[in-house]
Amino acid sequence: MATDVVTRIAPSPTGTMHIGTARTALFNWLYARGRGGKFLLRIEDTDRARSTPEATQAILDGMTWLGLDWDGEAVSQFERKDRHADVARAMLREGTAYKCFSTQDDIQSFRDAAKAEGRSTLFLSPWRDVPEDQHPDAPYAVRLKAPREGETVIEDAVQGTVRFRNDQLDDMVLLRSDGTPTYMLAVVVDDHDMGVTHAIRGDDHLNNAARQAQIYRAMGWAEPVWAHIPLIHGPDGKKLSKRHGATGVMEYAEMGYPPAAMRNYLARLGWSHGDDELFTDAQALEWFDLDGIGKSPARLDMKKLDSVAAWHIARMEDAELLAEVERYHALTGAPPLSQAQKDGLLAAMYCLKERARSLPDLLEKAQFVLAERPIEPDEKSAAALDDVSRGILSELTAQLQNDIWSRDTLEAALTAFAESHGLKFGKLAAPIRAALAGRSATPSVYDMMLVIGRDETLARLTDAASRRD
Ligand code: GLU
Repeated sequence: MATDVVTRIAPSPTGTMHIGTARTALFNWLYARGRGGKFLLRIEDTDRARSTPEATQAILDGMTWLGLDWDGEAVSQFERKDRHADVARAMLREGTAYKCFSTQDDIQSFRDAAKAEGRSTLFLSPWRDVPEDQHPDAPYAVRLKAPREGETVIEDAVQGTVRFRNDQLDDMVLLRSDGTPTYMLAVVVDDHDMGVTHAIRGDDHLNNAARQAQIYRAMGWAEPVWAHIPLIHGPDGKKLSKRHGATGVMEYAEMGYPPAAMRNYLARLGWSHGDDELFTDAQALEWFDLDGIGKSPARLDMKKLDSVAAWHIARMEDAELLAEVERYHALTGAPPLSQAQKDGLLAAMYCLKERARSLPDLLEKAQFVLAERPIEPDEKSAAALDDVSRGILSELTAQLQNDIWSRDTLEAALTAFAESHGLKFGKLAAPIRAALAGRSATPSVYDMMLVIGRDETLARLTDAASRRD
């Protein structure tokens, strides 16, 4: 039944949360949540040397920021090591695994000899069929008694049928001689115990799937549906790396892309639904399916991300957008907004959210409600406040004193003023922008005048008119 779907994201906590991990998490989340199923989080922290609490926190933060909520507590793979070892011992009892007493040196000698004789260096343990009563009293690893002939075949929802020759897969170690489980065993036991029905993950794990399938089959457990998705590439078609730009999901948060936009953008990185580029979560949840996942790697495209973000920003509720701005400020360490600034932003949101590609882009346009008198112009707008312009502003201020403060009257007044001074409208608008916002990228002068009101507009125009360099 559809409601039985259980997916998971199983990141290794060894650094920041990679954008590829975020995309995989999103696919799993969409697949489960769109079917009333469960989405789980497992931290694959078995590599004690490389796993850090900070990296685990980075994953939790990244998931939370992206709005990918998971069911229940995050599972620590390391904490389940006794269960993993129990399964290895059960396999020993059932004869699907065996004790291998070969030391590292034995294995190396085997390989050296194989190489010298031009044979495959794949290790074939001499202990595979040695009965228990001939075992030495020595440390041993537990190895899977993997099939030696034929093929291990994976039916993959993205890659199709994938075949692996069994004579190229060795008897993998399940439990090391120090009693610790291997990653390969841990993943299978955890996925089985967590009831995972669909393993949607990067195709760098496709080879692991063959080995993991062998463990499932040895245990007689049902395998999940495998879905190995192509990795994300950079714009040049090469595997995504730092030199292409941001690879950590929180870097995108710090660049001010709203998470809703990021979800839309990441969903389209490798998955498609017809020609749909811009969509809501509700649509993605309804549409997402494994057959929409492409077989070739998707390319990161920042221009596209900008246009997706602009669409989401424009359609967000004002209050929601304000909450995103506050979150962005907290994330980047900017001082919190005052009540007056929040009120100003809300009043201006209607004209800020059109054509803003990111939250900092929106905030740049919002300077006219965020800044306080006296407005300090940036370099570019200071240049618009030369002597002539100041004279013009001073005249304009006088003319606006008695006008009714509405869009129509302001438009009429400014147009008439520009005409009577033989000015193109842009020539008039530039010093007004400088006076009201101290910036050249602003909403229209009318929007600014209406949002801040008559008194504040006239005060700022007067300030600018009397400004001395
Ligand atoms: N821990 C693996 C990773 O970070 C994921 C393993 C899996 O999804 O099965 O890539």
